[in-house]
Amino acid sequence: MGSLVMNNCESGYDEIPGKDDLLKGLACQPLFLLPNRVWRTYSGGKMIEKWQGAPDSSVGGEPFTKGDDRFPEDWVGSVVRATNIGREYVTDEGLSKVRLEDGSVVTLQQVICSNPAAYLGQAHVEMFGVTTALLVKVLDAAERLTIQVHPDQEFAKIHFDSPFGKTEAWYVLGARDGTEEPPSVLLGFKPGVTREMWRTLFEKQDVQGMINALHRIPVEEGQVFLIEAGAPHAIGEGCFLIEIQEPTDYTFRVEKMTPRGEVIPDRACHQGLGFDSIFESFHYDTYCYEEVCERFLLKPREKATDRVVTRGASSSIPDQDKVENCTHEDGKNASHDWMQGDTGDKRRVDGDNNKIFNGQLVTLIDEHDTRRFGMERLTVHKSVTVQRASEFELAIIVKGTGAIMWDTESAAIAQGQSIFLPAYLPKLTWTCDSSEPMTVLLCHPPKSII
Ligand SMILES: [Zn+2]
Repeated sequence: MGSLVMNNCESGYDEIPGKDDLLKGLACQPLFLLPNRVWRTYSGGKMIEKWQGAPDSSVGGEPFTKGDDRFPEDWVGSVVRATNIGREYVTDEGLSKVRLEDGSVVTLQQVICSNPAAYLGQAHVEMFGVTTALLVKVLDAAERLTIQVHPDQEFAKIHFDSPFGKTEAWYVLGARDGTEEPPSVLLGFKPGVTREMWRTLFEKQDVQGMINALHRIPVEEGQVFLIEAGAPHAIGEGCFLIEIQEPTDYTFRVEKMTPRGEVIPDRACHQGLGFDSIFESFHYDTYCYEEVCERFLLKPREKATDRVVTRGASSSIPDQDKVENCTHEDGKNASHDWMQGDTGDKRRVDGDNNKIFNGQLVTLIDEHDTRRFGMERLTVHKSVTVQRASEFELAIIVKGTGAIMWDTESAAIAQGQSIFLPAYLPKLTWTCDSSEPMTVLLCHPPKSII
């Protein structure tokens, strides 16, 4: 395991003279991440701008225009540099940034390197070194992405000397109107597809044949897909989603041209390994439609209601449906069980004892699905306090407005904002002030290297 521990500070950390104490001190507060758009081989981004409100185009890289462009992704809490052939001159592309009190802008990596254990958590640093071991992106596709596959950890270790492959998962934020077909994703080989057949389709560049070899699954808001490394996939036109993944940018593409007719350099298809290696990285399992949904489409876990407190949630309740989500199967109030029982879990959600429904925390991805990362969805109706484990989290405000409170301080938060929550922060209170509930995605790093 020791050989897998990474230290991003050694190669990428430029100490900032005179600011070390300032950077160290930020571990006591949430870090609000600046918009961080990244160039890609496909177009999009209009939905991100709409969702985030006015973007801050003065920060990082090239300014982007309103609407769709070649910056269709926003990388959240990223300590990973993007791999864009021909754009190597943008040396900090992909790296998340924060603005300091004095107005200067530093990378999240620089902040973390000032005090890794406080930001990432001691156990995390011992296991992974000074890396988040995680990458999260907001992604808006104005066109279908090319059919692709990502390497697993074994392949990545051999060919890239990397401890991480690229298993990924998608949380669907929504879909665009006006697309030719209902927004969908292509995922998993259909029965009968073999390695030889797949290679032949590639050699002929029979794109329609490749599309036909994969299942097409329509997307709906709130769905969670888990795309294990090795699984063939393509995000379809009009999909707007949050992607959580292992912290690499290794993508193998079997299409040499984008759907809009732009030629993709060979190197961007095979990452310098040659085309033969692409076909090594696919896993050639096949599925019928029901099987592919069962395998890759995750269901929110009811067990997460164990961690929700709604003290006295039986009167003054605005929405009975929502309250049902907050009780155990036997009908007992979840808060009562929580307060009495010991689930062994360090995190919990607490309410403010005013007999109204405050919030709900649901597990979307945990170690039973993958050991590469985790994800929860926090729905805030009024105000909830979340006790935190000593690990960092990335929070994304998916919907609504409100405030986040820590220690004696607070800050307004709104849809589209991303926040790095240092491991050092003991607890946080989330408050919703919009008429609709506020929805927050909490992204977690892996618990262990396997
Ligand atoms: Zn992918």
